[in-house]
Amino acid sequence: MSDVNIPDVNIGLVGHVDHGKTTLVSGITGQWADRHSEEIKRGISIRLGYADATIYKCPKCEGPEALSTSEKCPVCGGEAEPYRTISFVDAPGHETLMATMLSGSALMDGAMLVIAANEKCPQPQTKEHLMALELVGIENIVIVQNKIDVVSQEQALAHYKQIKQFVKGTIAENAPVVPVSAQQGINIGALLQTLDEYIPAPKRDPDEEPLMLIARSFDINKPGCNWRDVNGGVIGGSLTQGAFNEGDEIEIRPGRKYEAENQIHWEPIVTKITTINAGNKKVAQATPGGLLGVGTKLDPALTKSDALSGQVAGHVGKLPPVWEKLSFKVSLMERVVGSDDEFTIDPLRHKEPLMLSVGTAVTVGVVVNTKKDVVDVVLKRPVCVAVGSRIAISRQVGGRWRLIGMGTLTE
Ligand code: GDP
Ligand code: MG
Repeated sequence: MSDVNIPDVNIGLVGHVDHGKTTLVSGITGQWADRHSEEIKRGISIRLGYADATIYKCPKCEGPEALSTSEKCPVCGGEAEPYRTISFVDAPGHETLMATMLSGSALMDGAMLVIAANEKCPQPQTKEHLMALELVGIENIVIVQNKIDVVSQEQALAHYKQIKQFVKGTIAENAPVVPVSAQQGINIGALLQTLDEYIPAPKRDPDEEPLMLIARSFDINKPGCNWRDVNGGVIGGSLTQGAFNEGDEIEIRPGRKYEAENQIHWEPIVTKITTINAGNKKVAQATPGGLLGVGTKLDPALTKSDALSGQVAGHVGKLPPVWEKLSFKVSLMERVVGSDDEFTIDPLRHKEPLMLSVGTAVTVGVVVNTKKDVVDVVLKRPVCVAVGSRIAISRQVGGRWRLIGMGTLTE
């Protein structure tokens, strides 16, 4: 049933800044995930990047060497066959960009934790990102030990031991560790084989109500184009359940903000799906796993510059509620990780501001009630989310938002 040319899984790239995440995606996919000029100028990923790659298998070669992302086998030069297509979500590793990393983690079916072999392990965001995977509940993890081209074999081995020590007792305890050089293209076949083995496609049930988490939204029209040729707004993201079909009527929530009588209100947006793109291909139906671009009849002004990121789309009347106040059960970590100094985490305080990551949405709110392990937070921006969902909680520590724990939405 599934087409090997259409992505069936989203694999996230997480890890400390400069450890080689973007280089690895571009090495595997042939696409540079830092596509925005500001990102190229600064040399770091600021927004979520994404790219797809089809894995090819050479029928004549064996083992990891048989796998590559090239139609021509790099080992024997023979013709390789398309085997599976994967979407990659490249999360920024800079400590100030945890919110983006967290919104990306909502889309990940599995993750590569990239750790550079030429620095002591763990670095602050290596820890903070692993903790995020743990809190969000991403279990399918492959650890990539990168930059092995710049260390000796003994150093690589010592670094491997640091990795094993670091992941002990965490969700990544039994994750495989694959040594590679993203820049030199060393051992990429083995990495592809490991990804294929450890990160399966998510389960699909097309009978469930569809729920798409929106990560990006675009106006794909060239400036000054004729109004007759204007394309409707495009939303990008992934389905976490159900299926979308071309022609479906959809609703986007919380939707559009408007002001009336000095109050801010939100109203759902209703539109129709005109096209679906998955893995650079037009498809008639989309299911979970892999990133989608969904064309709609919306005015592109509504979708330009990621205006709808963090919102959700589904069938009309079938989406979860929109909340302006969230009540959730809290479990806090013992210590803040992610900076050079680690701090103990105190209980949540009345009136303190928190940053909450819910699906791909990031919203700031103020604590208005702290019972024993349930808190109420009034949000600046409402979110659309189902009861029982997980919420990543960050607090300001030393002038930065730091991940401190997890909440579960109660009624
Ligand atoms: P990111 O912040 O994790 O996305 O890291 P980048 O992919 O932007 O890489 C940071 C720097 O490390 C760049 O200068 C890369 O060229 C370099 N780099 C990435 N992978 C390797 C590798 O395998 N070997 C070496 N020597 N350098 C690498
Ligand atoms: Mg990067």
